[in-house]
Amino acid sequence: MNDSVGYRGRFAPTPSGPLHFGSLVAALGSYLDARAARGEWLVRIEDIDPPRCPEGAASTILRQLETFGLEWDGSVMWQHTRDEAYQIALDQLIQLGLAYPCSCSRKQWQGFDIYPGWCRDGVCDPTKPVAWRLRSDLGERPIRWDDRLFGAQQFDPAELGDVVLKRKDDLWAYQLAVVVDDAEQNITDVVRGLDLLDNTPWQRQLQSALGLAQPRYLHLPLIVTAEGQKLSKQNLAPALAEDNHGVRQQLFQALQALDQTPPQDLAAEPPSTQLHWAVANWSLARLSPTAHRLTPLLHPSGD
Ligand code: GLU
Repeated sequence: MNDSVGYRGRFAPTPSGPLHFGSLVAALGSYLDARAARGEWLVRIEDIDPPRCPEGAASTILRQLETFGLEWDGSVMWQHTRDEAYQIALDQLIQLGLAYPCSCSRKQWQGFDIYPGWCRDGVCDPTKPVAWRLRSDLGERPIRWDDRLFGAQQFDPAELGDVVLKRKDDLWAYQLAVVVDDAEQNITDVVRGLDLLDNTPWQRQLQSALGLAQPRYLHLPLIVTAEGQKLSKQNLAPALAEDNHGVRQQLFQALQALDQTPPQDLAAEPPSTQLHWAVANWSLARLSPTAHRLTPLLHPSGD
């Protein structure tokens, strides 16, 4: 892989189940943005939380990406292999005084919106297992960036709280892993769902503390049900199609969800043809920041 590439994007699913239409749209947006920039597009499987990741889900996701024609560059990165790198980053943060052990349980601070930082100056109960938290009050503040769709952003990470970096059960937390791996993969552009916008301040704070390059961010509007709820496995997000007809239809609908106004006759074309059109015509300017409401006709059989 070429390290001097101008654009490098990624899709980084948590394999907690197969992709649904919402995650297809996120994958597609990130793919098109990368390919339209003649950049690379990588896939990273964020499998740091084995109890949440059923056996086989990751390979299902990779197969789904292939079915929809979303071909990635290089080999897939698996977070379960990255323990050592996360530990090095955590040690660095500890040295900088930006990470601290915390024995408090959720139950103890349930009356607060965010963890009140009781262990900041020493573990409250040294007999208990500890999680490691970020000193959100000490790093760069406020955090500002220009989201490529949502514009100027400003957050005070201290108001978001001392996020967990490593859990009591020794599992790594998303915020640390994502930052270490985006840097390892030289990601220049993060394109993902709007639900992660308010995680970005912690990630940028971590990048600045660890001296890592800061990618650009593009958060994509969420896909919501006709009732306005975020699509998720819980509210029966439509499964992705596997049959030819269904795949073509859903890919077409994903392009519509990204406001790319594909010509109607493209709906009958195979993924390679649809993607060829979509890369050549990708326009962020067309994308509206409002949530896209899913019309109920979407279903796997596609008829
Ligand atoms: N693994 C995260 C998810 O599936 C996404 C991470 C990211 O794109 O930063 O929600």
